[in-house]
Amino acid sequence: MSVIEKVISIQSPFKLVSREYKQDNTLIKVGGHVIGGQDVHLIAGSCAVESRAQFLEVAAAVKEAGATFLRGGAYKPRTSPYSFQGLAEKGLEILAEARAATGLPIVTEVMDTRLVPLVARYADILQVGARNMQNFSILQEVARVGKPVLLKRGPGATIKELLMAAEYILVGGNNQVILCERGIRTFENFTRYTLDLSSVPLIKQLSHLPVIVDPSHGTGKWPLVLPMSRAAVAAGADGLLIEVHSSPCDALSDGQQSLLPDKFRNLVDEVGMVARAVGRCIPGCGVSQ
Ligand code: PEP
Ligand code: MN
Repeated sequence: MSVIEKVISIQSPFKLVSREYKQDNTLIKVGGHVIGGQDVHLIAGSCAVESRAQFLEVAAAVKEAGATFLRGGAYKPRTSPYSFQGLAEKGLEILAEARAATGLPIVTEVMDTRLVPLVARYADILQVGARNMQNFSILQEVARVGKPVLLKRGPGATIKELLMAAEYILVGGNNQVILCERGIRTFENFTRYTLDLSSVPLIKQLSHLPVIVDPSHGTGKWPLVLPMSRAAVAAGADGLLIEVHSSPCDALSDGQQSLLPDKFRNLVDEVGMVARAVGRCIPGCGVSQ
């Protein structure tokens, strides 16, 4: 037919997500930053927003240390129904206040389809957590929102399943998807999960979407966060998601994997060195995008 310029036959089950369909890296522009380009981004903050004072303190600390995005959960997926579940809408308001105070864009999780419009009003990037990676209703709902989505790999999900989950969002009309390796469940239990860093170069070969790594949930142990952050950046990650808390012993969730602010400051320096060694840089390191 004369109206058809060319026909591309895509063999992989994930179509829009695949490199066959789009060769160039997808660049996601948020708040003056570009994810998926030369910069390696640091998304940092506490696991949960616990109170106004607690979160404003950690937000200022991670900003000062060089974070480019602020994270914190207002809705928390907890194993136990008796654990702290997050401050809900109050938490979103605190996130917005922290964004205004620091200028850092916000990443926060949406756990329920019904809450997508509300969370999208506050968040700069909507996080779909590991437990909801294959909640197809949430994937379809976040596809309708014109905001980037951070999609975390499920602890029992294969790379193909992660890419198929991303396909739901792209086919739903939203191509601003950031994939996140956060560890998978194996027989090893010294660590919380097994951080599968081979997924980073593999996904980069299979897909044009940016890939970030979460060594905090991936290991569950703060002393492992720095070495695995270095390794993730060496493996080609476009960013890191790091949990930071001013008083990890008092944290309402994930204290064991949270870094103190000065440890995070050191991580930013160390990661910057690895980034430069592999031809990348962290924002503000002086090399232009
Ligand atoms: C989180 O990042 O807050 C979180 C709960 O992580 P995950 O979904 O990877 O367990
Ligand atoms: Mn956490």
